[in-house]
Amino acid sequence: MSVLEFTATELLAELTVGNVSATELTRVYLAQIEQNDEAIGAFLNVDAERALTQAKAIDQRRQAGEQLGLLAGLPVAVKDVLCTKGWTTTCGSRMLEQFVPPYDATVINKLKAADAVLIGKTNMDEFAMGGSTENSAFKKTHNPWGLDRTPGGSSGGAAACVAASMAPLSVGTDTGGSIRQPAAFCGVTGMKPTYGRVSRYGLVAFASSFDQAGPLAMAAEDVALLLEAIAGHDPVDSTSANVPTPSYTASVREPIKGLRLGVAREHFGDGLDGGVDSAVREAIKVFESQGAIVREVSLPHSKYAIATYYIIAPCEASSNLARYDGVHYGYRTDEKEMLAELAEERKTLEEAGDRAKLEAMDTSLVRMYRKTRSEAFGPEVKRRVMLGSYALSAGYYDAYYLKALKVRRLIREDYDAAFKDVDLIIGPTTATPAFKLGEMNEDPLSMYLQDLYTVSANLAGIAAISLPCGITGEGLPVGLQLQAAPFEEEKLLRAAHMFQQATDWHTKRPR
Ligand code: GLN
Repeated sequence: MSVLEFTATELLAELTVGNVSATELTRVYLAQIEQNDEAIGAFLNVDAERALTQAKAIDQRRQAGEQLGLLAGLPVAVKDVLCTKGWTTTCGSRMLEQFVPPYDATVINKLKAADAVLIGKTNMDEFAMGGSTENSAFKKTHNPWGLDRTPGGSSGGAAACVAASMAPLSVGTDTGGSIRQPAAFCGVTGMKPTYGRVSRYGLVAFASSFDQAGPLAMAAEDVALLLEAIAGHDPVDSTSANVPTPSYTASVREPIKGLRLGVAREHFGDGLDGGVDSAVREAIKVFESQGAIVREVSLPHSKYAIATYYIIAPCEASSNLARYDGVHYGYRTDEKEMLAELAEERKTLEEAGDRAKLEAMDTSLVRMYRKTRSEAFGPEVKRRVMLGSYALSAGYYDAYYLKALKVRRLIREDYDAAFKDVDLIIGPTTATPAFKLGEMNEDPLSMYLQDLYTVSANLAGIAAISLPCGITGEGLPVGLQLQAAPFEEEKLLRAAHMFQQATDWHTKRPR
């Protein structure tokens, strides 16, 4: 059996007893990347030398008998939205193509403190806006289960690299489903922790009241391991929750007796793929056979979730992305060219004696902003900035943004009520398995509808996990979603582990 089939938890045991060194393990994964990533395209940046230097240092410290961190010697891939000091962080955007952060995100600091080996930065939709990774300015990522399929998004690279055994662990981010949907499409386990559980410091902002980093891995046990390493209160992130971090690795193997599962009827509506539906219903039976009590719950406002999310998230995005003005960060348009263009235009207007147009002309500053942003942002980012700016503008603010905030509260209250009666809500992560690359290019709305079952958790700020629960007739993985009340990640992990003890879907790998 190759080490590539080991879970991260198993690899950690091998590292600890010295059956394999961090350097050897890193080499195995680097070779796997070398061999497979040309076809998959999960990584934007792999720095073998950096990874091997870290691995060697960990091996030396282990030999010297030093106490090592939680992830000692495990390779971890990181979505290219988390700032890494001295190491390019592009966010999948031309805007940040050359951006080398002067500091590490808290998540990165924690990974380093846990003695993880940072193996590479993974591909993503530009600024995490999208559900297929096709919005990356740099390349497409292919689903390891079918190269003509999308891996999902925006953390498509993060999910694909785990599925293709190019990293045992990876960190993604989830604003509206971007960890869970790719995890579902790629047949891996991925968790969106409660808003505030993991620090957002150094996570490039898309929609600040939703963004949350979280783990992707082969099994719930591994998710527990990585979550324990990256979670925790952070005084430099004012939205980080000041609550203790449980030892997820200690509790994940404890089954939950009398687990109360809620099935939301709203999650089994029109548009649900037959293969997904039956796999999820089978999964519910597995839980029942383990003693779970299943009952129906209702989330009556979930039908407004997509509309609500696609008002609030673009509003926050339009405000967050205003910083990319060509002055503070990242790309700036060619100034000489821009000034020459302005002079040319002015001359033409002067010759024509067009006073009105002359007066309305851009100043060089405005022209610089305009050109910088039109050249460096892709179409989806522009669409979100326009939607958000519109919804926030005077006269529309109350009708759109404020209204959406009120609906967001109702969605949260639905969950509060449901979690009075059940421990977890169970259902599909996505309505369909991985769709084909290019399938939704012409239709942004159908791409938005992909987030039907995932955005509510972000609107409500609760925790949710996706785990593999079947394979469709076409040979594509199906994701099962479990949702829990805020800060109940332990319940999610324990239930997911229970399921993975009784089934082997999480061990299936693409050819
Ligand atoms: N697909 C959703 C969007 O495009 C979610 C993205 C995310 O979670 N980052 O906004």
